This record gives sequence, structure tokens and C-alpha cells, in this order.
Amino acid sequence: MEKEKLPLVGRFAPTPSGRMHLGNVFAALLAWLSVRSRDGELVLRMEDLDTQRTSPEFAQILREDLTWLGLTWDRETPAQSTRSAVYDACFERLAGMDLIYPCYCTRSQLHSVNAPHLSDGTYIYPGTCRELTQAQREGFSRKPAWRLQVPDREYALEDKCCGSFRQNLSRECGDFLVRRADGVYMYQLAVVVDDGLSGVTEVVRGRDLLESAPRQMYLQELLGFQKPQYAHVPMLLSADGRRLSKRDKDLDLGQLRTWMKPEQLLGWLAYAAGLLDKIDGVSARELAKDFTWEHVKKEDIFADTRCFYR
Ligand code: GLU
Repeated sequence: MEKEKLPLVGRFAPTPSGRMHLGNVFAALLAWLSVRSRDGELVLRMEDLDTQRTSPEFAQILREDLTWLGLTWDRETPAQSTRSAVYDACFERLAGMDLIYPCYCTRSQLHSVNAPHLSDGTYIYPGTCRELTQAQREGFSRKPAWRLQVPDREYALEDKCCGSFRQNLSRECGDFLVRRADGVYMYQLAVVVDDGLSGVTEVVRGRDLLESAPRQMYLQELLGFQKPQYAHVPMLLSADGRRLSKRDKDLDLGQLRTWMKPEQLLGWLAYAAGLLDKIDGVSARELAKDFTWEHVKKEDIFADTRCFYR
């Protein structure tokens, strides 16, 4: 029987910890174009698990910035900070599969582990706490964080920007954290649960998250969610090869909106992405008319940001 084709549902999942910078807007634009050029639906979700770094005020500014750019969404799903009951239920399901164990390692122990780490800064966990006995566990006075056991298995994906990517979870990642000692859930679990429950079929985001995808595919499998298609878009780099980030205060939307029109900014981003031959004012809607992933550059992009410093 032919597999039923799911409707296209994309998403923006920003972290409301500051104003968007060029890299965030670049990823948001491509997520929007991919969905809008194919009549899909777009979901907005605030990833505010870290309530120390994020705020409802930033979330509101983010919505305003997206609206200013013309990057509209169809529905907003509840912010992650309000979802612990949903994550609890999934955590319990994983615990019921005997795949979760408490980890008592301190930050300094983890950092002293002389192990290679992934590009997102995650250490390859050597499994220190996996085989602790109940008596050993009871011997610790501090509260544990919680890890998910991973299989010695390769997860492979065909990314719309990066092509084939594969990763053996046990050798190249190790058992990973799903809940912190203070009870806050980790990004990897929350993102899979939220994307899964909101019916997301396409994930477009920065290439810095490519190495997270195999962990998320494993969680999707365990929790019975559909695997989305992925497009991990190139990073925007400054002339000296640094990633543009929230540290580049002068290149965030707070600054840029004081003197630029949205069409100017979109034109610059579309040119950087390979969607325009020259920098020209353009609306998001116009770009959607002939958007295809084939036109999007595949390598990280050295962006000429001189025009932004006036
Ligand atoms: N919240 C993440 C960020 O703002 C994106 C996570 C994702 O797209 O999966 O970088």
C-alpha cells in the first residue's frame, strides 16, 4: 500500500534570549520559504526551557521582528517552559523502557574526561554512571541528572543542505542528558516531543544542530513520532571566519531595524543564500515564488557585512 503523504508542516523554534541576529533571520527565512513555496503550514514555538536566559518580553519582540520581516506563521504552540507535564509523561515512557538512568557526574568530572566532543560542545559520555548499583546510587547526597542510553547503531539522514550524514550514537555521542538535576528538561527531549506532537514534517535550522539530529531521530523512534525531513542551513561567517552570533550586538534586529527596511535586509540575506544574483530589495513573498533548495548554497557563507556598519 502506498504510504499516506503527510501535509507539509515546518516550524520556527527560536530561543527568546535576545534580539535575532543575521544568522537567526537567515535560518528563519529559509524555513519560511521552504514551507510557503509549497503551501505548507508554519508553526512557531518559543524554546524557553532555560528560564534564566529567556523572557516573555524577548518572545514578544521576536514575534514583532518576524512580523516586520513578513515571516508569518499559522499557529503558535505553547512555549516549552509551560510543558513539563508533557515532557514528564514522555520521560516516564522512556524510563519504562529501562533506558534512563541517574547520572551523578559533576560538571568538573565531565569536563576532565579526556574525551573528544561534538561540535555543539557535548562531551562523548563514557557511561560512568550507567552500571551503578542501587547501593552506589543511594550513596550520593546530590540529586542526579538523567541520561538516556543509546544503542551502538548508526543513524543516517539525507539532509537537504548537507547531503548524507551518519553518526553512530554510542561511539560518536554517548548516553545523553534528557533531564537536569533541577528537573528542567533538555533541549533534545523537548524538541522531539514538541515537533512530534505538533505534526512537524520538516525541520530547517542552522548547521550547528546537524550533529543533534541522530539523537533526535533515536528519540523519535522510541516515542513513536514521524521522522521529519531535515535541512541544516549554512552558517553565516564574518570575514575572519567567526560565526555571526548574538554577541555581534550591532548586527541584531534591534540595530538593523532602526535604519533598514525589511526588503533591504531580505535582499541581502537572499543574495547571501544564493537566491539572488545581486543585492536588491525584495519581499519574502516574492522570494517564495521561485524558491527551491537547489539554489541554496551548501557551504558556510562568508558574509560581507560591511554595509551594516554605518
Ligand atoms: N532553539 C534553537 C535556537 O534558537 C533552535 C532549535 C531547533 O531548531 O531545533 O537555536
